[in-house]
Amino acid sequence: MPARILDGRAAAADQRNSISAAVAHHTTHHGPIRLCSLLVGSDEAGLLYAKSQHHRCLQVGIQHELLQFDNSIGERQLLAEIDRLNANPLTTGIMLHMPLPEHIDAARAQYRIDPYKDVEGVSPANIGWLFYGEPIIAPCTALAAIELIKRSGLELRGAEAVVVGQSRIVGRPLSLYLNMQMATVTSCHIATRDLAAHTRNADLLIVAVGKPHLIGPDHVKPGAVVIDVGINKITIKDDAGNESRKTVGDVDFDAVAPIAGAITPVPGGVGPLTVMMLMRNVAEAARKQLDRKL
Ligand code: NAP
Repeated sequence: MPARILDGRAAAADQRNSISAAVAHHTTHHGPIRLCSLLVGSDEAGLLYAKSQHHRCLQVGIQHELLQFDNSIGERQLLAEIDRLNANPLTTGIMLHMPLPEHIDAARAQYRIDPYKDVEGVSPANIGWLFYGEPIIAPCTALAAIELIKRSGLELRGAEAVVVGQSRIVGRPLSLYLNMQMATVTSCHIATRDLAAHTRNADLLIVAVGKPHLIGPDHVKPGAVVIDVGINKITIKDDAGNESRKTVGDVDFDAVAPIAGAITPVPGGVGPLTVMMLMRNVAEAARKQLDRKL
Protein backbone atom coordinates (compact mmCIF):
# COMPACT_ATOMS: atom_id res chain seq x y z
CA MET A 1 0.00 0.00 0.00
CA PRO A 2 1.47 3.43 -0.89
CA ALA A 3 2.44 5.74 1.96
CA ARG A 4 0.03 8.17 3.56
CA ILE A 5 1.04 11.70 2.57
CA LEU A 6 1.67 13.97 5.55
CA ASP A 7 0.38 17.21 4.07
CA GLY A 8 2.16 20.25 5.55
CA ARG A 9 -0.13 22.75 3.83
CA ALA A 10 -3.24 21.16 5.36
CA ALA A 11 -1.55 21.04 8.78
CA ALA A 12 -0.64 24.73 8.43
CA ALA A 13 -4.22 25.62 7.50
CA ASP A 14 -5.44 23.73 10.59
CA GLN A 15 -3.12 25.76 12.82
CA ARG A 16 -4.04 29.14 11.34
CA ASN A 17 -7.36 29.61 13.15
CA SER A 18 -6.02 28.91 16.61
CA ILE A 19 -3.02 31.19 16.03
CA SER A 20 -5.30 34.00 14.78
CA ALA A 21 -7.48 33.54 17.87
CA ALA A 22 -4.46 33.71 20.21
CA VAL A 23 -3.19 36.84 18.46
CA ALA A 24 -6.63 38.50 18.63
CA HIS A 25 -6.90 37.69 22.36
CA HIS A 26 -3.44 39.14 23.07
CA THR A 27 -4.13 42.24 20.98
CA THR A 28 -7.39 42.94 22.85
CA HIS A 29 -6.01 42.40 26.35
CA HIS A 30 -2.33 43.38 26.09
CA GLY A 31 -1.82 45.31 22.85
CA PRO A 32 -0.59 44.36 19.37
CA ILE A 33 1.92 41.64 18.61
CA ARG A 34 4.69 43.02 16.44
CA LEU A 35 7.44 41.16 14.58
CA CYS A 36 10.48 43.09 13.35
CA SER A 37 12.53 41.36 10.66
CA LEU A 38 16.06 42.50 9.95
CA LEU A 39 17.28 41.98 6.39
CA VAL A 40 20.83 42.89 5.43
CA GLY A 41 21.58 43.34 1.70
CA SER A 42 19.28 43.31 -1.28
CA ASP A 43 19.42 39.60 -2.13
CA GLU A 44 16.29 38.82 -4.17
CA ALA A 45 15.51 35.51 -2.41
CA GLY A 46 15.82 37.16 1.00
CA LEU A 47 13.51 39.98 0.00
CA LEU A 48 10.95 37.54 -1.42
CA TYR A 49 11.01 35.51 1.79
CA ALA A 50 10.63 38.66 3.90
CA LYS A 51 7.66 39.76 1.79
CA SER A 52 5.93 36.39 2.12
CA GLN A 53 6.51 36.59 5.87
CA HIS A 54 4.88 40.01 5.91
CA HIS A 55 1.84 38.54 4.18
CA ARG A 56 1.67 35.58 6.64
CA CYS A 57 1.85 37.91 9.64
CA LEU A 58 -1.00 40.05 8.38
CA GLN A 59 -3.08 36.90 7.74
CA VAL A 60 -3.03 36.02 11.44
CA GLY A 61 -3.24 39.60 12.77
CA ILE A 62 0.44 40.13 13.62
CA GLN A 63 2.00 43.51 12.81
CA HIS A 64 5.15 43.17 10.74
CA GLU A 65 7.94 45.62 10.10
CA LEU A 66 10.81 44.91 7.73
CA LEU A 67 14.00 46.77 8.55
CA GLN A 68 16.39 46.71 5.59
CA PHE A 69 20.07 47.54 5.81
CA ASP A 70 22.76 48.01 3.23
CA ASN A 71 25.39 45.26 2.90
CA SER A 72 27.95 47.70 4.26
CA ILE A 73 26.34 47.88 7.71
CA GLY A 74 28.94 47.15 10.39
CA GLU A 75 28.54 44.43 13.02
CA ARG A 76 28.47 46.96 15.84
CA GLN A 77 25.70 48.94 14.16
CA LEU A 78 23.62 45.79 13.56
CA LEU A 79 24.06 44.72 17.19
CA ALA A 80 22.95 48.22 18.26
CA GLU A 81 19.79 47.80 16.15
CA ILE A 82 19.09 44.47 17.86
CA ASP A 83 19.66 46.07 21.29
CA ARG A 84 17.23 48.84 20.35
CA LEU A 85 14.54 46.29 19.40
CA ASN A 86 15.26 44.20 22.51
CA ALA A 87 14.58 47.28 24.65
CA ASN A 88 11.42 48.35 22.81
CA PRO A 89 8.33 46.84 24.50
CA LEU A 90 6.29 47.44 21.33
CA THR A 91 8.49 44.95 19.45
CA THR A 92 7.46 41.52 20.70
CA GLY A 93 9.40 39.42 18.18
CA ILE A 94 12.69 39.76 16.30
CA MET A 95 13.93 37.77 13.34
CA LEU A 96 17.30 38.11 11.67
CA HIS A 97 17.32 36.92 8.07
CA MET A 98 20.27 34.80 6.95
CA PRO A 99 22.72 34.88 5.28
CA LEU A 100 24.56 37.91 6.64
CA PRO A 101 27.58 39.44 4.89
CA GLU A 102 30.89 37.79 5.80
CA HIS A 103 32.15 40.69 7.91
CA ILE A 104 29.32 40.08 10.42
CA ASP A 105 29.51 37.18 12.87
CA ALA A 106 26.06 35.65 12.26
CA ALA A 107 26.02 33.61 15.47
CA ARG A 108 26.98 36.63 17.58
CA ALA A 109 24.20 38.70 16.01
CA GLN A 110 21.61 35.94 16.43
CA TYR A 111 22.66 35.29 20.03
CA ARG A 112 22.20 38.99 20.83
CA ILE A 113 18.41 38.71 20.38
CA ASP A 114 16.50 38.62 23.68
CA PRO A 115 15.52 34.91 24.13
CA TYR A 116 11.93 35.97 24.77
CA LYS A 117 11.86 37.79 21.41
CA ASP A 118 13.90 35.15 19.51
CA VAL A 119 10.95 33.81 17.50
CA GLU A 120 13.15 31.36 15.58
CA GLY A 121 14.18 29.73 18.86
CA VAL A 122 17.88 29.63 17.98
CA SER A 123 19.57 31.58 20.80
CA PRO A 124 21.76 29.61 23.25
CA ALA A 125 19.25 30.30 26.03
CA ASN A 126 16.40 28.82 24.03
CA ILE A 127 18.40 25.77 22.95
CA GLY A 128 19.51 25.38 26.57
CA TRP A 129 15.94 25.47 27.91
CA LEU A 130 15.02 22.91 25.29
CA PHE A 131 17.60 20.58 26.85
CA TYR A 132 15.74 20.87 30.16
CA GLY A 133 12.44 20.15 28.38
CA GLU A 134 11.06 23.63 29.11
CA PRO A 135 11.71 25.70 25.99
CA ILE A 136 10.75 29.38 25.99
CA ILE A 137 10.68 29.35 22.19
CA ALA A 138 11.68 26.19 20.27
CA PRO A 139 13.16 26.16 16.72
CA CYS A 140 10.30 26.35 14.21
CA THR A 141 11.53 23.71 11.75
CA ALA A 142 11.85 21.17 14.55
CA LEU A 143 8.35 22.12 15.73
CA ALA A 144 6.96 21.57 12.23
CA ALA A 145 8.56 18.14 11.97
CA ILE A 146 7.18 17.21 15.41
CA GLU A 147 3.68 18.30 14.42
CA LEU A 148 3.82 16.09 11.32
CA ILE A 149 5.12 13.13 13.34
CA LYS A 150 2.11 13.56 15.67
CA ARG A 151 -0.15 13.54 12.62
CA SER A 152 1.37 10.26 11.46
CA GLY A 153 0.00 8.63 14.61
CA LEU A 154 3.32 6.86 15.30
CA GLU A 155 3.81 5.87 18.96
CA LEU A 156 7.22 7.34 19.82
CA ARG A 157 7.73 5.49 23.07
CA GLY A 158 10.06 2.61 22.27
CA ALA A 159 10.22 3.45 18.55
CA GLU A 160 13.54 3.33 16.67
CA ALA A 161 14.11 6.88 15.42
CA VAL A 162 16.96 7.87 13.11
CA VAL A 163 17.75 11.53 12.50
CA VAL A 164 20.08 12.20 9.57
CA GLY A 165 21.76 15.59 10.02
CA GLN A 166 22.82 17.16 13.31
CA SER A 167 22.56 20.91 12.73
CA ARG A 168 21.95 23.07 15.77
CA ILE A 169 18.52 24.25 14.67
CA VAL A 170 17.08 21.12 13.05
CA GLY A 171 18.78 17.76 13.60
CA ARG A 172 19.98 18.15 17.19
CA PRO A 173 16.78 19.64 18.67
CA LEU A 174 14.79 16.87 16.96
CA SER A 175 17.07 14.14 18.34
CA LEU A 176 16.68 15.66 21.79
CA TYR A 177 12.89 15.89 21.51
CA LEU A 178 12.58 12.27 20.32
CA ASN A 179 14.82 11.12 23.14
CA MET A 180 12.57 12.89 25.65
CA GLN A 181 9.58 11.12 24.09
CA MET A 182 11.32 7.82 24.94
CA ALA A 183 12.21 6.88 21.37
CA THR A 184 15.55 5.14 20.86
CA VAL A 185 17.42 7.73 18.84
CA THR A 186 20.33 7.38 16.42
CA SER A 187 21.92 10.57 15.11
CA CYS A 188 23.65 10.21 11.72
CA HIS A 189 25.98 12.78 10.19
CA ILE A 190 28.78 13.25 7.71
CA ALA A 191 31.04 10.74 9.54
CA THR A 192 28.42 7.97 9.69
CA ARG A 193 30.05 4.98 7.99
CA ASP A 194 27.09 3.03 6.67
CA LEU A 195 24.05 5.30 6.58
CA ALA A 196 21.63 2.70 5.17
CA ALA A 197 22.57 0.20 7.91
CA HIS A 198 21.15 2.68 10.44
CA THR A 199 18.23 4.14 8.49
CA ARG A 200 16.90 0.69 7.54
CA ASN A 201 16.15 0.05 11.22
CA ALA A 202 14.11 3.21 11.63
CA ASP A 203 10.39 3.23 12.46
CA LEU A 204 10.78 7.00 12.16
CA LEU A 205 13.31 8.47 9.72
CA ILE A 206 13.95 12.22 9.72
CA VAL A 207 16.29 13.62 7.10
CA ALA A 208 17.68 17.16 7.38
CA VAL A 209 20.84 17.33 5.31
CA GLY A 210 20.47 19.36 2.11
CA LYS A 211 21.47 16.65 -0.40
CA PRO A 212 18.90 15.79 -3.09
CA HIS A 213 17.88 12.14 -3.12
CA LEU A 214 20.33 11.13 -0.38
CA ILE A 215 17.72 8.65 0.83
CA GLY A 216 16.42 6.01 -1.57
CA PRO A 217 14.25 2.91 -1.10
CA ASP A 218 17.23 0.86 0.13
CA HIS A 219 17.51 3.19 3.13
CA VAL A 220 13.93 2.76 4.29
CA LYS A 221 12.22 0.09 6.37
CA PRO A 222 8.80 -0.87 4.90
CA GLY A 223 6.04 0.98 6.75
CA ALA A 224 8.38 3.62 8.26
CA VAL A 225 7.32 7.24 8.83
CA VAL A 226 9.62 9.44 6.74
CA ILE A 227 9.96 13.17 7.45
CA ASP A 228 11.95 15.01 4.77
CA VAL A 229 13.18 18.40 5.97
CA GLY A 230 15.58 19.01 3.05
CA ILE A 231 14.93 21.73 0.48
CA ASN A 232 17.08 21.54 -2.64
CA LYS A 233 16.84 23.20 -6.03
CA ILE A 234 17.85 20.90 -8.88
CA THR A 235 17.94 21.35 -12.64
CA ILE A 236 15.98 18.84 -14.70
CA LYS A 237 15.83 18.27 -18.47
CA ASP A 238 12.69 17.30 -20.36
CA ASP A 239 12.68 14.97 -23.40
CA ALA A 240 13.30 17.93 -25.71
CA GLY A 241 16.38 18.88 -23.69
CA ASN A 242 14.82 21.99 -22.11
CA GLU A 243 16.11 22.72 -18.64
CA SER A 244 14.00 23.82 -15.70
CA ARG A 245 14.45 24.18 -11.94
CA LYS A 246 12.64 21.97 -9.47
CA THR A 247 12.48 21.85 -5.67
CA VAL A 248 13.12 18.44 -4.13
CA GLY A 249 13.87 17.10 -0.67
CA ASP A 250 16.64 14.83 0.58
CA VAL A 251 14.44 11.77 0.02
CA ASP A 252 13.74 10.27 -3.41
CA PHE A 253 10.00 10.69 -2.92
CA ASP A 254 8.78 8.69 -5.94
CA ALA A 255 10.94 5.69 -5.06
CA VAL A 256 10.36 5.76 -1.29
CA ALA A 257 6.61 6.55 -1.15
CA PRO A 258 5.57 3.06 -2.32
CA ILE A 259 7.29 1.40 0.66
CA ALA A 260 6.99 3.97 3.48
CA GLY A 261 4.00 4.01 5.85
CA ALA A 262 3.74 7.81 5.80
CA ILE A 263 5.89 10.46 4.12
CA THR A 264 6.16 14.24 3.80
CA PRO A 265 6.34 15.61 0.25
CA VAL A 266 8.72 18.39 -0.85
CA PRO A 267 7.40 20.93 -1.54
CA GLY A 268 4.25 20.87 0.58
CA GLY A 269 5.55 19.09 3.69
CA VAL A 270 7.71 20.50 6.48
CA GLY A 271 8.30 23.84 4.69
CA PRO A 272 4.80 25.41 4.77
CA LEU A 273 4.24 24.21 8.32
CA THR A 274 7.55 25.75 9.44
CA VAL A 275 6.28 29.17 8.33
CA MET A 276 3.10 28.65 10.38
CA MET A 277 5.15 27.48 13.39
CA LEU A 278 7.05 30.75 13.12
CA MET A 279 3.73 32.58 13.42
CA ARG A 280 2.86 30.42 16.43
CA ASN A 281 6.23 31.27 17.98
CA VAL A 282 5.62 34.99 17.43
CA ALA A 283 2.32 34.71 19.32
CA GLU A 284 3.91 32.52 22.04
CA ALA A 285 6.82 34.94 22.46
CA ALA A 286 4.44 37.85 23.12
CA ARG A 287 2.45 35.79 25.62
CA LYS A 288 5.53 34.60 27.49
CA GLN A 289 6.91 38.15 27.77
CA LEU A 290 3.95 38.89 30.06
CA ASP A 291 5.37 36.44 32.58
CA ARG A 292 9.14 36.46 32.15
CA LYS A 293 11.28 34.10 34.20
CA LEU A 294 14.65 35.59 33.15
P1 NAP B 1 23.18 22.13 7.79
O1 NAP B 1 23.38 23.07 8.92
O2 NAP B 1 24.03 22.25 6.57
O3 NAP B 1 23.34 20.65 8.38
C1 NAP B 1 23.37 19.54 7.53
C2 NAP B 1 23.66 18.30 8.36
O4 NAP B 1 23.70 17.18 7.49
C3 NAP B 1 24.98 18.34 9.10
O5 NAP B 1 24.76 17.91 10.41
C4 NAP B 1 25.86 17.35 8.33
O6 NAP B 1 26.72 16.61 9.16
C5 NAP B 1 24.85 16.40 7.79
N1 NAP B 1 25.31 15.74 6.57
C6 NAP B 1 25.90 16.29 5.48
N2 NAP B 1 26.13 15.35 4.52
C7 NAP B 1 25.69 14.18 5.04
C8 NAP B 1 25.65 12.86 4.56
N3 NAP B 1 26.11 12.55 3.34
N4 NAP B 1 25.12 11.89 5.35
C9 NAP B 1 24.65 12.19 6.58
N5 NAP B 1 24.64 13.44 7.09
C10 NAP B 1 25.16 14.42 6.33
O7 NAP B 1 21.68 22.17 7.27
P2 NAP B 1 20.29 22.52 8.02
O8 NAP B 1 20.21 23.96 8.26
O9 NAP B 1 20.04 21.57 9.12
O10 NAP B 1 19.31 22.20 6.80
C11 NAP B 1 19.23 20.88 6.27
C12 NAP B 1 18.26 20.89 5.10
O11 NAP B 1 16.99 21.28 5.58
C13 NAP B 1 18.60 21.89 3.99
O12 NAP B 1 18.18 21.35 2.74
C14 NAP B 1 17.75 23.10 4.32
O13 NAP B 1 17.41 23.86 3.16
C15 NAP B 1 16.53 22.42 4.86
N6 NAP B 1 15.74 23.24 5.78
C16 NAP B 1 14.41 23.20 5.61
C17 NAP B 1 13.58 23.92 6.44
C18 NAP B 1 12.11 23.82 6.24
O14 NAP B 1 11.38 24.67 6.68
N7 NAP B 1 11.62 22.75 5.60
C19 NAP B 1 14.12 24.72 7.45
C20 NAP B 1 15.52 24.70 7.66
C21 NAP B 1 16.32 23.94 6.81
P3 NAP B 1 27.96 17.27 9.96
O15 NAP B 1 27.31 18.10 11.05
O16 NAP B 1 28.66 16.12 10.54
O17 NAP B 1 28.70 18.07 8.97
